[in-house]
Amino acid sequence: MKTAIVWFKTDLRLEDNETLVKAIAQSDQIIPLYCFDDSQFTTTSYGFKKTGSFRAQFLLESSQDLDNNLRQLGSGLIIVKGKPEVEIAKIAQQYKAFKVFAKREVAYEEKNTERLVQNELFKMRCELETFSTSTLYHAEDLPFSIKDIPDVFTNFRKKIEKESSIRTIFDKPLLINSPQIPEAAFPKLNDLDLKFQAIDSRAAMHFKGGETEASKRLNYYFFQTKKISTYKETRNGLVGADYSSKFSAWLALGCISPRFIYHELKKYESNFGANESTYWLIFELLWRDFFRFMFKKHQSKMFQASGINSEKEIPKAVSEKLLKNWVSGNTNVDFIDANMIELKLTGFMSNRGRQNVASYLCNDLKLDWRYGASYFEQQLIDYDECSNWGNWAYIAGVGNDPRANRYFDIQKQAVVYDKDKSYRNLWLNS
Ligand SMILES: Cc1cc2nc3c(=O)[nH]c(=O)nc-3n(C[C@H](O)[C@H](O)[C@H](O)COP(=O)(O)OP(=O)(O)OC[C@H]3O[C@@H](n4cnc5c(N)ncnc54)[C@H](O)[C@@H]3O)c2cc1C
Repeated sequence: MKTAIVWFKTDLRLEDNETLVKAIAQSDQIIPLYCFDDSQFTTTSYGFKKTGSFRAQFLLESSQDLDNNLRQLGSGLIIVKGKPEVEIAKIAQQYKAFKVFAKREVAYEEKNTERLVQNELFKMRCELETFSTSTLYHAEDLPFSIKDIPDVFTNFRKKIEKESSIRTIFDKPLLINSPQIPEAAFPKLNDLDLKFQAIDSRAAMHFKGGETEASKRLNYYFFQTKKISTYKETRNGLVGADYSSKFSAWLALGCISPRFIYHELKKYESNFGANESTYWLIFELLWRDFFRFMFKKHQSKMFQASGINSEKEIPKAVSEKLLKNWVSGNTNVDFIDANMIELKLTGFMSNRGRQNVASYLCNDLKLDWRYGASYFEQQLIDYDECSNWGNWAYIAGVGNDPRANRYFDIQKQAVVYDKDKSYRNLWLNS
């Protein structure tokens, strides 16, 4: 009897999950496993938690949904908590697994954890096999080697659009053969050193974790409301659920794959027509891919003050007072404060808001950008290491922005994007 473990991480889904499909194909029975990694719930050297309560809640919901969906197919999810290299090795030994199947990582810390797990498994002659499952374009289909990936997005996009294609999806398995999986023991927020925080009722959206909810949102945004057909015109909005797709949180935990979104979009386009808006969602998903591949190329540099641009002088000091005022929405710049309050009370902020508050921290307050990135890491429901640190480095001028010294004039931005002040009134007048 060949038993394999499927180690779920930020791929909490059954649809289009190559790791799961390959594990099923190569073994007689599988053990689905999720490890709440203690290191993800510590406080960083910047003074912020790695995971705040909004995202932890979303993660709990997502893993519970995965457990439910697995049980419907005859399996279930084993939940462990601790160091992955210890906990996964224990389960591998208990079930005499011949292999652990998992998603392949690109970012520095995640890659390190992957290596530690592999070393422990190696000691018991158990293999770790990984699969690239989080991007729209498969890593092996890129028209350049990793070291030659262009550092400028437009060059990356043009070549990839011309020379690569997007693979088809892996169908969700219909049945899974597993031994009796004991009822999953999910941690409570307290066990993760966190307290429940209710999302403010003014939130753009009340995100609920899991593949089931991700698929509902996609159906809503595409087929029920056809909002996708006006996405390009609305995407710079600030108020409400539908100015943008809001797919990010589900994408970050892998409750939905970008490739699945792409193929659903193609169905939508063949029924209701393609236009600039339908294309633009793919364009944005390409940004997501771009940052992932940049992390593969530049590795830990994206977490360093000078990023991939060692020439640029950047402030390394931080004024605690200025940082505190920025975090709590007390800068006296109303557009910045409204955005920071939204983030604090809901775990979400629009893309337009993120660009402005990040630029303000770097260019106006002149603080070390990594404090801002670290606060976002704690606070965002949709936190994703590559998209977050990549975008922050970009705005700080140490990443992939070909334009030196990009500056957001906050007052001007507020006038253009919040002309009638409805956004600022929503968050500042309470
Ligand atoms: C400073 C800063 C930090 C950010 N941190 C994160 C983060 O931690 N996680 C995250 O998912 N996005 C991050 N973004 C990108 C972007 O702001 C969010 O993806 C977007 O606001 C999420 O809302 P949406 O799903 O409705 O986006 P939509 O506009 O509907 O876009 C569709 C999808 O495209 C991708 N996308 C869109 N814009 C970007 C972008 N600039 N970079 C990478 N991917 C993009 C996302 O996966 C998004 O879900 C950050 C942007 C900035 C400027």
